[in-house]
Amino acid sequence: MPELPEVEMARRRLVRWLDGREVVEVELDDTRIAPPEGRAALSRVRGALRESLRRGKLLWLGFERGGVASHLGMTGKWVRREGPGAVRFSRARLVLSDGSVLHYTDPRLFGRLEPLSRPEVEERFSSLGLDPLADTVTVKSLREALGKGKRAIKVALMDQARVAGLGNIHAAEALFRAGIHPERPVNEVTDAELKRLVRGIRETLDFGLAEQEGEEPVYLEEPGSENPFQVYGRAGEPCRRCRTLIESFRQAQRTTCYCPRCQPRSPDP
Ligand SMILES: [Zn+2]
Repeated sequence: MPELPEVEMARRRLVRWLDGREVVEVELDDTRIAPPEGRAALSRVRGALRESLRRGKLLWLGFERGGVASHLGMTGKWVRREGPGAVRFSRARLVLSDGSVLHYTDPRLFGRLEPLSRPEVEERFSSLGLDPLADTVTVKSLREALGKGKRAIKVALMDQARVAGLGNIHAAEALFRAGIHPERPVNEVTDAELKRLVRGIRETLDFGLAEQEGEEPVYLEEPGSENPFQVYGRAGEPCRRCRTLIESFRQAQRTTCYCPRCQPRSPDP
């Protein structure tokens, strides 16, 4: 499932693919990806890309005529083809002035395309929390974002209104790197732990960005993809750091993986 690194890399690819080219046609298939009320405006989008913005998992492209907000949902991707031709699960297409076609593909149809203006997307952005790529993350800013409650730290990290862009994968990875148990209440996490978490978030996102550097995105759930992560999806395997078996449990309807030794429930004072 796309998280912050996948969405940021999608933005960078789109900027590259659109460089020196213009949108000359927009094709929308009849799916829930483009809700009916937005279809007419989306299909009128034309011209060169003027700017691109991203906050959390929401991406926005501002063209000479019209703006497109893209949320990749669970399985959405942007891919480029040199010319016409069918692409599996293609749901919408930007046809460019050089004949190339940018396909929005989405097998499970949880993504969205919406015709938003810059003020409209900024309004959406305002409801999103700290963005660990766009904003400077410090112990102070992270503590403010996570709040003061007794909520489990992993649940708070995945709350898009608090920290925007982290999902199940990168929240688990950041906590492993920081040596923090996913169920630690946020109000008990020390400054020393938060300092490690700031670094852990940075490291897992940098790793995620590097993993997505190819010309076409690959998601973990896809056939043939290998799990590059340290704890995510590794329950029952030995921890890479201490060889203890990675454990998992259900937390907020998601499977959370962690190392019981590297991430003790009650750390030594
Ligand atoms: Zn371990």
